[in-house]
Amino acid sequence: MKQFISLLFCLINAFAFSQDVVYIKVFAHLKVNAATFSVQKSTYNIIADDKVLLKDNGTTILKLTAINDSVEVKSFETVYGRFKNVKMVDQNGGGELKLKLVNPDRKQRIYPDNYNVSNELGNLKIINEVKLDNYIAGVVEAESGTASTPEFYKVQAILARTFALAHINKHLPEGFSLCDQVHCQAYYGKPRFEGITEMVLDTKGKVVVDENLNLIVAAFHSNSGGQTANSEDVWGTRTSYLKSVNDTFSTGMPNYKWERKMLTEDWLSYLKLKHNYPVDEASAKALALNFKQDTRKIYLEASNVKVPLKNVRQDLQLKSTYFNISKSGDSVIFEGKGYGHSLGMSQEGAMRMTKLGYSYTDVLNFYYRNIQIIDMRKLAFFRDE
Ligand SMILES: [Zn+2]
Repeated sequence: MKQFISLLFCLINAFAFSQDVVYIKVFAHLKVNAATFSVQKSTYNIIADDKVLLKDNGTTILKLTAINDSVEVKSFETVYGRFKNVKMVDQNGGGELKLKLVNPDRKQRIYPDNYNVSNELGNLKIINEVKLDNYIAGVVEAESGTASTPEFYKVQAILARTFALAHINKHLPEGFSLCDQVHCQAYYGKPRFEGITEMVLDTKGKVVVDENLNLIVAAFHSNSGGQTANSEDVWGTRTSYLKSVNDTFSTGMPNYKWERKMLTEDWLSYLKLKHNYPVDEASAKALALNFKQDTRKIYLEASNVKVPLKNVRQDLQLKSTYFNISKSGDSVIFEGKGYGHSLGMSQEGAMRMTKLGYSYTDVLNFYYRNIQIIDMRKLAFFRDE
């Protein structure tokens, strides 16, 4: 019951912040000095410090520049002045605005819904005030590309929505919900493939919760190599849903196998210097040069020295921790399987499942254990009772 109430509060928060709208800081990794905006679809009111500057349906290109602590607004013909805050508000619904960074120079992108631009420490702070489903559609394309199955997009949509709602207040102290970088979820505006939005709407409101009705940590990766991992083995935290599963769906997919060659002396000195591994002991050395994982191991272990494979992966920039090692001349060969941290869903495995006709429910229940897929709107309704 306690968890149920905490989920309700979480959802109430999500709704209280604004109904079905999220506030995404775009180009969050850049210091933006100047950008142009133009209406692509619908009619917009351009509102500066709470006064309507103009109404536009695509005839005007506005240039906004950060000057001192304000935002200067001008078009080719007119300098409108300097303001604290500039809002661009869609009047008809379904609106889209083209955004082109001028300084620094970046390719144009199209964003749905509204904008709020202000000056933050001498730079433009551009917030896309976007309907949750439009945001999810952008994330789905950014995270899964354009060549996929409809059912796979639905899986990604549910995971992206689950993440967004679980982290809706991540940047609250900075005045927005989420940033557009992988720190939160990659989001580059409106998807180029229009069909994505439709598939997102097919999953409207659906999120994944654990057995206590808490939104799950919706971890996913590229390819599990045939076996996913336990969260406690990768992150040190046990969960009821990130459990190791045998995943034959990932077998043979593009990121299933990898190989890396390394000089034997480099490998042994790495083990010795970084991990104090006893390379001078014959049996320990033999193990380091001939290491096998039939199922996932967590350590390379000899004489009570445990070398965490996740550290080896990180230090040597390997695609996964699921590798065998064998000797070849003066080198060792790492023959690995999978790509990524291997927690939760394997994207390539999920893609294969949907191609074989499995539903998004099947996919989510396969990669996440003891979960439920629920409608967040129904929970919001319960709170009124
Ligand atoms: Zn972020």
